[in-house]
Amino acid sequence: MKQLARELIVKPGSDIKLHKVDPGDTCGYDKDSCDERLTKNLERLAVLQYMLYAEAKRSLLVVLQGIDAGGKDGTIKHVMSGLNPQGVTVTSFKVPEGAEKRHDYLWRIHQAVPEWGKMGIFNRSHYEDVLVVRVHDLVPKKVWSRRYDEINDFERMLSDSGVQIVKFLLYIGKDEQARRFRERIEDKHKNWKFSPSDLKEREYWDEYIDAYQDMLRKCSKKHAPWYVIPANNKWFRNLAVSQILCDTLEGMDLKFPKPVADLKGIKFE
Ligand code: AMP
Ligand code: MG
Repeated sequence: MKQLARELIVKPGSDIKLHKVDPGDTCGYDKDSCDERLTKNLERLAVLQYMLYAEAKRSLLVVLQGIDAGGKDGTIKHVMSGLNPQGVTVTSFKVPEGAEKRHDYLWRIHQAVPEWGKMGIFNRSHYEDVLVVRVHDLVPKKVWSRRYDEINDFERMLSDSGVQIVKFLLYIGKDEQARRFRERIEDKHKNWKFSPSDLKEREYWDEYIDAYQDMLRKCSKKHAPWYVIPANNKWFRNLAVSQILCDTLEGMDLKFPKPVADLKGIKFE
């Protein structure tokens, strides 16, 4: 495993303490070196995605979680910008409605899992069912507390079937969230992003941290690791996510499929 990934992974079985993670950390990188490396990583990612698409036997599922204003949308915009749209799906999970409410919580998730050859990005995910649902008691504790095992089983099954899973928690500090909310209020091009309900959620900061921590402790697995990305600095966030995505895809040892015919023998005018 490469350096950044090693620093940011939540080791399976570890009892990570989020208050010990500095959301402003940049692992020794400065902005210029990050921007330079990001450009290179985006080129690498495009090539790796092409190979995943060509091989068409496995898929990559990228889970993005984070508190409001944590940078999920920005990460998708900046890190996935060089990808071929034909090979990518982005699914945003909102408050369940309609048929989603009439099924188990993994129903909508399973349908959005990327097909072979594709990369699927989840903007929020099944983890909301142990985050917002837990913080607001939307189901009894007895119900949400067994979901960690259920999620682990589900992800194990996906992994056994050929879905490579990689999960990112974008971690910003409470001050940085306040700064970003203020920007949304003051900058008229960002007004649309502001939601009064985000301020309400901010009051539950500590409860969210506890819920994130449990999620990380219980659900980081070798085949489906969680990474905590210090995300106060967007340039470092983008570098870290792009780097780990490249490493993950490289670790899959992707291969072009064999030609369907003996190409040397083919002649035409
Ligand atoms: P946004 O990502 O800002 O568009 O907001 C989506 C909202 O949907 C967030 O407040 C999430 O917490 C909420 N949400 C997503 N999944 C669930 C779920 N399974 N149960 C309840 N709320 C959810
Ligand atoms: Mg929001």
